[in-house]
Amino acid sequence: MPPAFLLAITFLAPQEIQQGQVLRLTAPQAEPGLIAFFAGKDFPIFATNGRSLALIPVGVYQQPGAFPITIKGPNGDVLQQLPVIVKATDFPTQNIVATRQMKELKPLPGEVERMRSLAATVSKDRHFEDAFVLPVRGCRNSPFGVQRLHNGKPSGNYHRGVDQRGPEGTPIQAAASGLVAVAQPNFQLHGGTVGLDHGQGLTSHYLHMSKVAVREGQRVNQGDVIGYVGSTGFATGPHLHWGVNLHATPVNPTEFVKLTPCSAAKSPPAKRTRPPKKKPTP
Ligand SMILES: [Zn+2]
Repeated sequence: MPPAFLLAITFLAPQEIQQGQVLRLTAPQAEPGLIAFFAGKDFPIFATNGRSLALIPVGVYQQPGAFPITIKGPNGDVLQQLPVIVKATDFPTQNIVATRQMKELKPLPGEVERMRSLAATVSKDRHFEDAFVLPVRGCRNSPFGVQRLHNGKPSGNYHRGVDQRGPEGTPIQAAASGLVAVAQPNFQLHGGTVGLDHGQGLTSHYLHMSKVAVREGQRVNQGDVIGYVGSTGFATGPHLHWGVNLHATPVNPTEFVKLTPCSAAKSPPAKRTRPPKKKPTP
């Protein structure tokens, strides 16, 4: 039998969730040391500001079906079970016309490992708010999760973030507060790169920058300029690729911020057919 005080905590979670989304498990009380077991993995439940919260990634490759969440106490005792159904998301395919120069790009020694280790960072302190800000204004040219073809052939990979086109030199803002874990102006594949650790397993990264404006170890606030749009690394033109990882799994950034597809405007952002809501960045 679990101790009586733990029975007072009731966790809430959505009953349905889709591939690529973030499962938010919450309780209105704080209790340290609890674990959420979901789809074969344990995730820490953090006690923050008087409540308990676990953000659990539902990966693009997570099998659809019934996967109950089990809440476990510090000793592994089962305290509560919540039913969750994972639904399939229809991810389209997208072809990238890669030049020979792009195809010949090789990552620097340690480049891929640095990005992997950023994605897997789980630091205890929470630096982020639930709502992110858009790193650059405007619409989304390429959504999260699309299966990528390179010159018509399957690349074996999916888009692990979103793309926003923008003129070279457009300032890029931190989507949320955090610590600069990666600030590398010269990555070969990722190009000029900044990686932020927002705490509690949540990280974000910003690629292809023309210039990096922060240094590793620095603390940044949401909205601070961290670099500038460019087309360095594996890029067909100036754009920002940014992505969000949760416990090493890429999740859709639009789980944290609203981002409209450019196709909704029926024209590229440079030739707007509708008046812009806000003045474009100079
Ligand atoms: Zn991209």
